[in-house]
Amino acid sequence: SYILSIESSCDDTSCAVLKNDQVLSNVIAGQKVHQQYGGVVPELASRAHQSNIVPVVHTALAQANIDKKQLTAIAFTRGPGLMGSLLVGSSFAKSLSLALDIPLIEVHHMQAHILAHFIDEGQEKPEFPFLALTISGGHTQIVKVTDHHEMEVIGTTMDDAVGEAFDKTGKMLGLDYPAGPIIDSLARKGNPHAFSFPIPKAPNLDYSFSGFKTSVLYFIQKQVKENLDFIKENLEDICASVQYTIIEILFQKLEKAVNKTGIKSVAIGGGVSANSGIRERLLSKKEKGWKVFIPPFQYTTDNAAMIGISGYYKFLQKDFAGLEVTATARISM
Ligand code: ATP
Ligand code: FE
Repeated sequence: SYILSIESSCDDTSCAVLKNDQVLSNVIAGQKVHQQYGGVVPELASRAHQSNIVPVVHTALAQANIDKKQLTAIAFTRGPGLMGSLLVGSSFAKSLSLALDIPLIEVHHMQAHILAHFIDEGQEKPEFPFLALTISGGHTQIVKVTDHHEMEVIGTTMDDAVGEAFDKTGKMLGLDYPAGPIIDSLARKGNPHAFSFPIPKAPNLDYSFSGFKTSVLYFIQKQVKENLDFIKENLEDICASVQYTIIEILFQKLEKAVNKTGIKSVAIGGGVSANSGIRERLLSKKEKGWKVFIPPFQYTTDNAAMIGISGYYKFLQKDFAGLEVTATARISM
């Protein structure tokens, strides 16, 4: 099969073409317009999707060296995400499927972050059942995955997502948006034990990050009162300590989930799984008998290839959507 897929849930317009489980092209147009606001502005995002979508789709087809008449199906992100952003991708996907008279496949964005592991790059793929820690700009979840189509959220954040914890603490430090990757690279040069922040309490397998964020804010305010240059002089150590605490928070619950379910196969996914410290910590768990899976780097942050692979598994089951399907901002797994 040749599946063309579209992802437009947030601020990246992306289109991919997959031949079965292999990626022929995966084009991503980012949106610089949000940087000056320190976060995604929904209205600006949908406008940028509007102007990006046609060229991005053309480029993806050209790079794959595929004519649109050869396509077997169209997959798109139905949700969750920003309504105005989702509408651009879903309307485009519906029109294209109608024009080409080929099946339409709706994909759940968070399932796609997990299924990115099944894009064939010659790597070892997770075997069912496995646990997925999906960590991104809008989500922090522990998911029990029993099949390509069967996933159960067994832990989730009660407030902020881990990506927000990175981005918002980064903003306090004067870093650009998104701050996650910047904190990651600064942290590598700093001491993770220079400063310590409390681990928030949350029930069972759930997460909480808002208290952590506040404790970083108070800490910085207090230090800056005593020394105006505190941030500048300690930036690498602050980043290393912030990142260390976030990783502690994530892994305490992940370990609990492994013990509770007895499932020792663990995969990470979502934009924050690009983080080098998180990858290292997960790899270190191999010594504890875990089987660990890290997705190919280019498929961690938002991309259409992960929508394409999810579409492929639905295509195999002939799980198609009708043209009446609607973009849905909040949608459970
Ligand atoms: P969702 O998938 O929940 O809808 P999203 O699609 O906006 O949210 P992603 O694109 O999956 O999120 O991830 C973006 C997030 O990943 C941002 O918060 C960004 O700071 C974070 N991120 C990216 N690279 C890194 C990194 N190396 N270290 C930490 N965080 C990172
Ligand atoms: Fe995402």
